[in-house]
Formats: sequence, structure tokens, C-alpha cells
Amino acid sequence: MTARGQAPVAVLGGTFDPVHHGHLRPAIELLEGLGLSEIRLVPGRVPPHRPQPRCDAATRCRLLTEAVAATPGLVVDERELRRPGPSYTIDTLQSFRREHGPDRPLCFAMGSDAFRSLVRWHRWHELNEIAHLVVTTRGGDPGGPLPAELADWLAPRRAAHPHELRTAAAGRVWFHPVSRLEISATRVRQMLAQGRSARGLMPDTVWTLLSRAGLYGYPQQ
Ligand code: ATP
Repeated sequence: MTARGQAPVAVLGGTFDPVHHGHLRPAIELLEGLGLSEIRLVPGRVPPHRPQPRCDAATRCRLLTEAVAATPGLVVDERELRRPGPSYTIDTLQSFRREHGPDRPLCFAMGSDAFRSLVRWHRWHELNEIAHLVVTTRGGDPGGPLPAELADWLAPRRAAHPHELRTAAAGRVWFHPVSRLEISATRVRQMLAQGRSARGLMPDTVWTLLSRAGLYGYPQQ
């Protein structure tokens, strides 16, 4: 079998500050729904498009590793942590492309909130030349029309069927419905800083680690 036609490799970037079920559940649904071989969860070291994370990369990565430990197919990928400078998605996707060759379908997954802001990303036009984009609807995202520039760009690229993610290595944009979980790391951090529990918003094993270490201002247990 040629690389084209194989199960796509998928990448989910983020700050994971901290990881929560709003990251994990969509990833599991993509894995199963699209028949992916794996999803690489790539924590950013220095996110270029947003305020800097509250916790250092090693701590965020430790929580993320704990979060995926029991889920085959979800894999933490530390390549952005090893790269100096801002963690640009274009560099990350180029690195995956080099690793998997020109023909292997590659998908970059993002929530609908992140997609809406795509036109502000570094070299955003090139992202879809390297990977398909897979957009999951984010709970709490108010929706509404896309910015005109993005809507125009999207129209000829929008996939009508997920099978299109396998017949080309890159170039399509697929909207994949997932369970809506209205959780954000911002909200989790606010709760923790107020000494309120975040149990249930993340795997119990992650909660145990986080609360015992007293991270994000939560009183150490
Ligand atoms: P913050 O609140 O600090 O901005 P976040 O909760 O949005 O953090 P990120 O690490 O920035 O988490 O998100 C990484 C990716 O996961 C993004 O593509 C984002 O859209 C997606 N994502 C985060 N939370 C959810 C959610 N509840 N449902 C669907 N997608 C989500």
C-alpha cells in the first residue's frame, strides 16, 4: 500500500495548561470516528498567539502524559518543547511531514474557536498545504459567521466526506462533530486559584497529581 490511502496521522496542538476532558474526549472521538492510527498531542513551549502558560512545559507535559496513559492511540509528542523560539504550528507540521514522507495523510485537529482565529496564525495559508485541517465543534463556542477572508479560503477546500482525508496527503478541511464539553483551561485555572476542586473536569489520575502538588494555586493536599 502506498502512504496515500493509509490511516492519517493526526496532530492536536495546544498549551494544555492544564489538560482537561475538553481536549481528551474530542481526540478520542476523532481517533475512532476517522479511524486514525494515532493522535499526537503536542504541547507548545512558547505559544506565539496567546498569553504565556501559567505552568512550565515540563509540568504541563507530565499532566498530559498521565492523562493519556490509559488511552491507546493518544500519544504525547514533545517536539515543540525541544525547539527553541516560539512554537509555530507550521514548523511542527513540517517536521511531521518530513517524518512521514510526502504522501502520508496528515491531519491537524483544532477546536472551532481556534479555527475562527486561523487568519492570525503564522503563515496560515501554508498549514493546509502540509496537512488537512480537522475542526471539532467546541462547547461554548458561540458560532456565527466566519471572518470573510477565512470563509472564502475555506469554500473550495471544505471536504464533503471524511474519506477525502485519506485520498490526499493534505489540502482538505473537514468539520467533525464531537460531544460538546464546555470546559476550558482558563476556567479550570480560575477555579483552582480560588481553591475550588476541578475533579471531573480532567481524568482522576491527573487531578490527583495536580492537587497533591498544589499546582495553579490550589492548596496542596
Ligand atoms: P485556554 O482556556 O487556556 O485558552 P484551552 O482550554 O482552550 O485553553 P488549549 O490547550 O488552548 O486549551 O486548546 C488546545 C486545542 O484543544 C485547541 O484546538 C482548542 O480549540 C481545543 N479545545 C480545548 N478545549 C476544548 C473543548 N472543551 N472542546 C473542544 N475542543 C477544545
